Amino acid sequence: MSDHLAMGPGREFDAVRALLAQWGPLARGVGDDGAVLDVPAGEKLVVSTDSTVEDVHFRREWLSADEIGWRATQAALSDLAAMGAAPLGVLLALTVPRAWREELPALASGIGAAMQQVGAAIVGGDVTDGDRLALAITVLGHAPRPLSRAGARRGDTLYVTGSLGGPGAALSAWLAGSTPDAAARARFARPEARIAAGLWLAQQGATAALDLSDGLAGDVAHLAAASGVACVLELDAIPCVPGASVDAALQSGEEYELLVAAPSLDTAAFAQAHGGLELTAIGRVEAVGTPPSGGAPSGSVQGSAAQPGVVRAERGGAPVALPGAHDHFAP
Ligand SMILES: [Mg+2]
Repeated sequence: MSDHLAMGPGREFDAVRALLAQWGPLARGVGDDGAVLDVPAGEKLVVSTDSTVEDVHFRREWLSADEIGWRATQAALSDLAAMGAAPLGVLLALTVPRAWREELPALASGIGAAMQQVGAAIVGGDVTDGDRLALAITVLGHAPRPLSRAGARRGDTLYVTGSLGGPGAALSAWLAGSTPDAAARARFARPEARIAAGLWLAQQGATAALDLSDGLAGDVAHLAAASGVACVLELDAIPCVPGASVDAALQSGEEYELLVAAPSLDTAAFAQAHGGLELTAIGRVEAVGTPPSGGAPSGSVQGSAAQPGVVRAERGGAPVALPGAHDHFAP
């Protein structure tokens, strides 16, 4: 039933055989020196890689092994969502220290569940010993017209999927030695790559997209810089999870929601097509050098009106200072 190649004897191969048996049809064509995949005619191959490392991206006491596997896989897949690509498969390079070896089936279960959710297969990888748990995940996808960060145009609207602030709230609670509330914890532990949303947005004419990994304040600046435009955020429009302030939502990283620029989108049709997931207009794209409406705000503003990459903020149409991007996790 499987199309894996038979492997010779050895402990490493025993571990791989056990993983493949556990994954069943979620892994395909493993055992050769490389994976061989078909890309639909006329489409582009989209490739991205992402690492999740113990004590850098998470701490052992925060998450179960199953959650670590799920989260690392969804985080990697999220880059395909941002590119408007459909997943073809993933390659896994797992560093599993002795202290984690008994947890390998649980880790594999989380990885497998994430692959099942997006309907793609594990097509190769590597398992090695090491001194801390690390998952290096390479994702392969295809798209007729991959989205870039660089395509936003003057007059576009900025949209974000979902609600922001959950992962930041969970992280703040853990780092303060307390327990995050269940909803915030779930947003950190069980993110979902917005694959279907990315495909829909690309089809509906999105001009630029990225997934929120640094936090909205920082990521919108990446989009503005790559596109050579200015972005204006309407702070009162930013969708926040219950209990999160706008400032916290702006700085919450590892959200894995999508930020997109597009001429105009039907947000009700988006929600209907995505099980109620919301798409919210949160700002607009302007030409570089456009002066702020209503004069200069008090306090500091990120960037300068003369440079591409400037981000401004408004409340009710009046300029306000934008809280800075925050490097939220330096252990
Ligand atoms: Mg990304």
